[in-house]
Amino acid sequence: MKRLAIVGGAGRMGQALARGLAAHEGLEVVALVDEHPPASVAGAIGVADLNACDALSLDVVIDFSSPQGVLTSAQWCAAHGVALVVGTTGLTEAHWSALEAASQRVGVVVAANFAIGAVLSERFAAMAAPYFERVEIIELHHDHKVDAPSGTSIATARAIASARRAKGLAPIEDPTTSVSVEGARGANVEDGVRVHSVRLTGLVAHQEVLFGSPGEGLTIRHDSYDRESFLPGVAIAVAHVSAATPELLRGIDSLL
Ligand code: NAD
Repeated sequence: MKRLAIVGGAGRMGQALARGLAAHEGLEVVALVDEHPPASVAGAIGVADLNACDALSLDVVIDFSSPQGVLTSAQWCAAHGVALVVGTTGLTEAHWSALEAASQRVGVVVAANFAIGAVLSERFAAMAAPYFERVEIIELHHDHKVDAPSGTSIATARAIASARRAKGLAPIEDPTTSVSVEGARGANVEDGVRVHSVRLTGLVAHQEVLFGSPGEGLTIRHDSYDRESFLPGVAIAVAHVSAATPELLRGIDSLL
């Protein structure tokens, strides 16, 4: 039995994970850690910070909170010998440094998207990348998402750019010579692979990768209709990660 605490436990993802993971064989959610501690869910108690978990014999901390929360989780897990799974997005170099440091002591898995379909769509996009002249990404999310572009779209753009470079292809040039409204051409994430971010009420998490070549197009689309879609991937990461095996695993592609 692995004993888990969820940081960001009062949030949309935290609550979905608390309910979903509690039903998983071999997993027990014992604490929901949040600046605004929630009521207990399926036996997991709500607490204000990880220090309240000292006596709970945790095996894994799952962080779906904020970049600031990730810093605290990384330090706490390293100091207490507890493995860490991070789903929080919007991480900068400082956060990655803290995760690298923690991974010298304990196992750490970080993924911008735990939905299996999203992981496969990144894999498929990298497969298609060398065979098309141009590619652009549209990511679409709910109206409460605070970071842009999405972590998934950044990872997908980098995977496409890397696959193109591996085949000796040059960066994609933008034909646009005049932009009358700033931002119209989206963000050039890497080597001319552009991402356009949409925020709409009613959406959860969606992404389209549009490839184009003379006479043909290919669209790879993934939809998370519900936060339930992230549970199987988080469960796979939790099953894999261990305090006894220090490592920093980026993404769960290699675990599928
Ligand atoms: P949310 O705003 O509903 O919940 C975040 C929760 O974290 C809030 O309850 C907040 O009080 C708490 N929190 C913030 N900072 C904290 C800190 N320092 N210490 C303790 N608690 C803190 O957000 P959400 O929709 O649940 O998303 C959370 C994160 O997960 C975001 O970064 C989002 O992009 C990411 N996310 C990732 C995936 C994935 O598959 N990797 C999927 C969905 C969401």
